[in-house]
Amino acid sequence: MIAGLEDVRSGYDVDCDVVVVGSGPGGAVAAANFAEAGLRTIVVEAGPVVRPEDMTRAAPLFLARYYWEGGLRMVAGDAPGPAMGGRCVGGSSVVNSAIMLKLPQWVREIWSREDGLGPLLDGAELDRAFERVFRACRVAPTPLAVMGRRNEIVQRALSHQRVPNGPLPRAVHGCEGCADCITGCHEGRKQSVDRSHLREPAERGAIDVMTCSHVDRVDLRGGRAVGVSGHVVDPVTWRRGGRFRVRAKRVVLAAGAAHTPVILLRSGISGRGLVGGTLTAHISVGAFAIMDEVVDPWVGATQGWGAISPDIRGLKYEALWAAPSLIGVNWGGVGEPWLRELGDMKHAAVVALVYRANAWGRVRVGLGGGPRLSLRVPTADVHTLMRGLKVAVDGFLGVGARYVSAGMTGVPERFGTPREAEALLDRRIRPRQVKMTFNHLFGSCRISADPRRGPVGLDGGVRGVDGVYVMDGALFPSGSAVNPQATIMALSDVLSRRLAGLAA
Ligand SMILES: Cc1cc2nc3c(=O)[nH]c(=O)nc-3n(C[C@H](O)[C@H](O)[C@H](O)COP(=O)(O)OP(=O)(O)OC[C@H]3O[C@@H](n4cnc5c(N)ncnc54)[C@H](O)[C@@H]3O)c2cc1C
Ligand code: SF4
Repeated sequence: MIAGLEDVRSGYDVDCDVVVVGSGPGGAVAAANFAEAGLRTIVVEAGPVVRPEDMTRAAPLFLARYYWEGGLRMVAGDAPGPAMGGRCVGGSSVVNSAIMLKLPQWVREIWSREDGLGPLLDGAELDRAFERVFRACRVAPTPLAVMGRRNEIVQRALSHQRVPNGPLPRAVHGCEGCADCITGCHEGRKQSVDRSHLREPAERGAIDVMTCSHVDRVDLRGGRAVGVSGHVVDPVTWRRGGRFRVRAKRVVLAAGAAHTPVILLRSGISGRGLVGGTLTAHISVGAFAIMDEVVDPWVGATQGWGAISPDIRGLKYEALWAAPSLIGVNWGGVGEPWLRELGDMKHAAVVALVYRANAWGRVRVGLGGGPRLSLRVPTADVHTLMRGLKVAVDGFLGVGARYVSAGMTGVPERFGTPREAEALLDRRIRPRQVKMTFNHLFGSCRISADPRRGPVGLDGGVRGVDGVYVMDGALFPSGSAVNPQATIMALSDVLSRRLAGLAA
């Protein structure tokens, strides 16, 4: 059963064997496994169900309803920037580009060496978890038929720079190439976890999903979890409804790297300062090319083509598009110059760079009770990112771009030649000059064999309390170097199957 706002508005008090907080990639996989093991499972989700008819290219409206803080959640620090996150059944898997890549072997080795995760990562169990997840989400390379000119130009630009590239594997079946992933998938082609993991068990009554229900805290008695409590919230008006309580001996937190530590902190669980204290993120920038030819960038899979840098470990390139009302912020300007630039939009191709930087920071509880995020990004990592950006800019120029822009301050607004783009290699560039985004957040409740490095043990349990587990992106000891959703799901699969006593 999926309970909507009208079912929960005045509050409720229910019980079950295990309550899962958050219905994103981590939570959905865990809930499906608990249900498979015959445990009575309730998923509590702050956001609503997004129906295909709710999806709209009017991006600000969509973001206001289905993203945390209307899509404007910010990370403070020396390079302030947005960290978007979905607030709906399915979490960010509903609003992301569905790229699914396995955790690289070299990151597995770092996690095993530094945090003792060998018992989780070294055997065949994690590989089987990836296989299960990929099958359930119907992961396949993006078909060439839906690439469109924009993805093709990115392919040519990467090949020009001799960066090996290819179609990105995504959790999509029958993509129509509408470039609208960030505002949902109107035709229901994206295999977000509401579809791949929650729908079927909810329909047969094995899982109850309580939507529009914001968990405030874990309820504890004598150091043991006895459930969670919170308040109902109308996703459109933000008005508060009644209070609710879900009683369960096992509480699985999967509210995402920003919110899971907030719930723990508000419950008085700080893990000696480690809860929220080791936030990290991939850092991301974009290169915007204006071609002579008409590209019609709104045609083609949102992120259909990409590459892993052969020279810079931990750097990825991905073609990108978003609704014009969102991507337009990168053009800026007013009056006639703005109108001229708007006309250029149909000639645009965009590549995003995602880098596993050593960014470290913290999640605190903000004034309104939500997350307050901050990160420090090392200058040396920004210089490495700039090296990667130079490759992308040169690639676009090499395949005929009229100009390329990176939207940074302190360097020319437009690069017309590779020589001009050498400004990107200036060692005086500082993090705050770069317009970064942080959509891949992790590590705020690290899993580690070493209790001095992470508040979560190798069984996913939070140290110092009984019956509280974490199964989402908050667990990562450091960046995954590739898009994180598949690894979040696979880790959650391993931990939840073990907890539920299911065969690996
Ligand atoms: C625009 C965008 C594009 C991306 N593209 C990709 C991609 O192509 N591939 C990829 O691998 N990754 C991508 N990512 C990242 C990926 O989507 C996230 O890393 C992943 O979804 C995190 O999963 P999670 O389960 O940890 O948390 P989330 O997906 O954030 O899910 C957490 C859920 O918990 C709910 N919740 C939070 N607080 C509470 C509370 N107090 N009470 C109740 N419920 C709560 C939230 O509403 C949400 O539904 C993208 C992210 C964004 C924003
Ligand atoms: S490009 Fe369009 S059809 Fe394809 S997955 Fe994204 S939103 Fe769905």
